[in-house]
Amino acid sequence: MHKKWKIFVFALICPMLVICSTAEKQTEAEERSELIQPAKWWEKLPRPIYATLEKVETSQEWFEVYKLTEDTYAIYEPYQFEEAISYLVIGKERAIVIDTGTGIGDLKKTVSELTQLPVSVVNTHTHWDHIGDNHQFEEIACFNNPDCIKKLRTDIDNESLQRHITGDSIWKSLPKDFDSTTWTLPSVSPTSLLEDGDLIDLGERILEVIYTPGHSPGSICLLDKKYRILFTGDTFFPGPLYAYPADVNIDQYIASIEKLNSRVDEYDYLCSGHNDPWVKSEVIPRVADAFQEIMAGKGNFKEDEGIRRYYFEGFDILIRADMTKK
Ligand SMILES: [Zn+2]
Repeated sequence: MHKKWKIFVFALICPMLVICSTAEKQTEAEERSELIQPAKWWEKLPRPIYATLEKVETSQEWFEVYKLTEDTYAIYEPYQFEEAISYLVIGKERAIVIDTGTGIGDLKKTVSELTQLPVSVVNTHTHWDHIGDNHQFEEIACFNNPDCIKKLRTDIDNESLQRHITGDSIWKSLPKDFDSTTWTLPSVSPTSLLEDGDLIDLGERILEVIYTPGHSPGSICLLDKKYRILFTGDTFFPGPLYAYPADVNIDQYIASIEKLNSRVDEYDYLCSGHNDPWVKSEVIPRVADAFQEIMAGKGNFKEDEGIRRYYFEGFDILIRADMTKK
């Protein structure tokens, strides 16, 4: 190869190698860190809240279904590390499913056992474990944000999904009809784009879209005025809140928690995207205080590979050390 070309190719490859190794290192760190995924995380299951909820039998073993109100169901995936929860919210004329889980189970089949009404999807955000079964539905709404639309329109391939169904990520058998070698999350196109303050009318049941970016671009919460429930997606769940990944905007995240806090008198319970589907709203002011504490350089934490886990009552916050320095 001509010397000039060699220098050119080397100059091209060198930064690529640095980028690749940084990305790999980050993934390895995520997989390794006990702060993010503790070994044998399933030993703390079942979480106490489930003994207090009404369980509904459906045909899919992968899901546990709980009836929260007469026409609200939590569809929980306890066997995969994310412990994702989707919600079926039924009105008089139609229903929505808020998020569609990991895509390992057959969500549409489960939903069809719970309602005969037409069902469309509303995604609280577009992380993989909230959009898994989107492709089973014809109508899909997400927030009107270019990043959300792009993510929904992008397939997630089999290779990048493997780490979610291997090793410690799973503690029970995958469904019999699930093929791990061909599993992908097919792209979809949103059929409706939501704005802050939009009202979703299901027939005698109205949900308000509250724009809460920060955990990811375009994250939303949904306020159910009838039952005084707030569906929070990943903006809040009773576990370690993810404020560390690359697509987090910490200033927006804190502002969004403040926004929810300013409306805390409008809801009594939170239906969160992971772990527990029924959390008292009194936690939201404490989350707001927790972020203030962290940003003021206070709070108890453990640190690993530049990621800190701060401990609070009923939730934790995972945040990069560099984000805490203003
Ligand atoms: Zn998320």
